[in-house]
Formats: sequence, structure tokens, C-alpha cells
Amino acid sequence: MDINKIKSDFPILNRKINGSKLVYLDSAATSQKPSVVIDAVGNYYSRHNANIHRGIHTLSEEASTMFNNVYKKTASFINAAKVEEIVFTLNSTVAINMVARCLEHSIYWSSGSEIIITEMEHHANILPWMVLLAGSAGVDGLQNVKGLKVAKIKKDGTLDLNHFKSLLSKKTKIVAISHVSNVLGTINPVKDIARIVKNHSNALLLADGAQAAPHMRVNVQSLGCDFYVFSSHKMLGPTGLGVLWSKSEILKNFPAFMVGGGMIKEVYFDRATWADLPDKYNAGTPDIAGVIGFGAALDYLSKVGMENIRKHEEDLTLYCLNRLNNTPDVQVYGPQDLKVRGGVISFNVKGIPAHHCTMPLHKKLGITSSARASFYLYNDMGDVDSLIEAITKAKRIFRIS
Ligand code: PMP
Repeated sequence: MDINKIKSDFPILNRKINGSKLVYLDSAATSQKPSVVIDAVGNYYSRHNANIHRGIHTLSEEASTMFNNVYKKTASFINAAKVEEIVFTLNSTVAINMVARCLEHSIYWSSGSEIIITEMEHHANILPWMVLLAGSAGVDGLQNVKGLKVAKIKKDGTLDLNHFKSLLSKKTKIVAISHVSNVLGTINPVKDIARIVKNHSNALLLADGAQAAPHMRVNVQSLGCDFYVFSSHKMLGPTGLGVLWSKSEILKNFPAFMVGGGMIKEVYFDRATWADLPDKYNAGTPDIAGVIGFGAALDYLSKVGMENIRKHEEDLTLYCLNRLNNTPDVQVYGPQDLKVRGGVISFNVKGIPAHHCTMPLHKKLGITSSARASFYLYNDMGDVDSLIEAITKAKRIFRIS
């Protein structure tokens, strides 16, 4: 991979802040965008702007074709069996909320059911399940939620699979786990987890791929899960767009989520029928420009190659872990074994406050906050060196060295 060439594809990386070149180490929060993505959004608005699937005129047909192509690109990017298995949502959070909401009113759920998550979940993969168990999101919050089982993590930051297995029962209706943790960087063995879930329960399995799909090749068919969610903005695409993948038989058994124009076959004042997949989950005008921009992001990632991106991030993570491990007063969290760790490194520097959100996990680690560096294809070893320099400078400012 030619990192200098890749860096030059991202206009923001030319920016100077206080006279220094921008070093961006927060891709786990959101990634930067290459010119091809920015241009694809601009090109749609300046040349093809029209609503999709409605007007029978040139612009609408062009926009519809461009939009529909991205369904195909998305399906092929994660090796989904069919285009009908792709649902565009607002982000990963909405995708998980959607699954929880649809599950509640489906054949896959009954009262008294249980849900299993892990201690390393993002709030987006905790709260929707608590709401499902509570029956409502509540006016001020949730209290006394029953039925949420939480699989423990081991000291090395990996999931305790024996504990996880012990939580499964006939009552378990859904298991929801992160593919890659946004705090520890842990890569969870989704394939093994799927096997355990199917052997010991009838539960469905959701993998939260928000931190995985941008960084490694994902094959939803070989993973063996039932739902997979991820966000465009973390993988070079525009904000405001997420993806839910599920098997078409499950989506067919699920109720509609949002209702209105675009997702119906027939409407009368006493009855209605829903459109076939994927339109059943396309109520109202979608983020057409965002979807088209996302298509350009998928093309860019595919051209660089997901295996190359993963390998590059492994090299950066190894280099960064070594440098942080050798920096006095720094504590690093999560696995040290690169095979089970993505390019996310959370750490604390003694005496320097940080900020971060994943409350239950931080409680488990016995800390109130941590700092995080996260890498992507446009980072290089020099960016890691800048991080170490910044930590050393911060220590001087806080007078701890
Ligand atoms: N899951 C994980 C593991 C994440 O890291 C994030 C984003 N920080 C989300 C879910 C939510 O993603 P979004 O904000 O795009 O909905």
C-alpha cells in the first residue's frame, strides 16, 4: 500500500492546525473521506438530483439506477446472498434499534425471553435491548430491567466463552455482540460464537460490525450470524447512513419498521400491504446522496483491498503498542495479541484525565475514562510517533515527568 498516495486522496489531511499537518487518530469515531466520495455526493446533487423510484423522467431514472447499484455493491462487499438482505438505515445505532423493535413484534420473541450481550458492548448495543426487555424506552430512563445477561471478559480483554455458553438457555432469544470492540479493540470470534449459539439455543445472533466492516473482509454467510450492522461514516462514506444485513427469511417474518410512502404495495383506509424487500424497509425519501457516496467509498476500499487494510493496521497497531508499552506512566487496555485485536488502542496516562464513553466497560476495568487512538488506511508510523510526542508533551504540561 502506498500510504503517501492514499493520504493525498483525503483533502482534509492537507490541513494544517496551529502550523502542523493534521494527524488524525480518531477513525473509530468517524473516518475521513477521500475526494472520490466527496465528489460522488457533489456529482449526484449537481447532475442527477431527483427523487428515486417515483418520477418517470431522466433524472429520476439515473438517480434510481445509481441508488440501486449501491444495494448490489453493499451486498457484494459483505458477501450477502441477495440484495434483498440489505437494509439502509440512519446508522448502526438505528439498525440495532430497528432489530430490537421488529423482534418484539415477531415470531422470534415472547414475554419472559432473555437477551445476552457482553461486557464490551457500545451503548448502542446495550440500550436497545434494555428497552426491548423493559417494554418501553420510558420517559426519564429505565429501571429494574430484567432478562439481560452479560457475558464476562477475561483479564486479557477477550470474551470468556465458557461464561458466555453458561448464559445460553431456551429463554435466550437474541445474542448481540460486537465484532470488534470500540474500546479494547478485541476481535470477537463471531464464527465460534455462532456455532455455540446454534448448538445450545434457538437464539438469533446479531454482530455489531461498526468497528469491523471498515477494517477487515467481512463475509456474513461464513460468520453464521443472523444480523450484521455497520455505519457508512466509519468506512470513508458520508454520515447519516447505516446498513443492516439480515437473512431474507427473517426480514420477511419481521414487521415493517417505519411506514409511509415508498414501502407499500397497496393502501386503503382499512388495510395495506407492504412492498417486497428491500423496499419494505425504505419508508420515505432515503439519503440518496449518502447512499451514492457510500457506493464510492465501497469502491475505494475494494480497490485498496480489505486484506491490505487489515495488514497495514496490524503493523501500525504493533508499532503503537510497542511504543506505548515502553512509555512510562502509560497503561494500555485490551489484548496484546494482534490476531485478536483491531486498530483501536485505549490507554490512560497516569495523572492526565481523559474522556470516553462505554460506561459499563470502564466500570469493569476500574477506571472512569480512557483516551483512544484508532487507525485507518491513511495513517502511518509517523502518525504514531506524533501520538507518542503528544503524550510526552502532555506529561510535561501536567508535570508528571
Ligand atoms: N457499535 C460500535 C462498536 C461503535 O463503535 C459505534 C460507534 N462508536 C456504534 C455501534 C454506533 O455507531 P453509529 O454512531 O454510527 O450509530
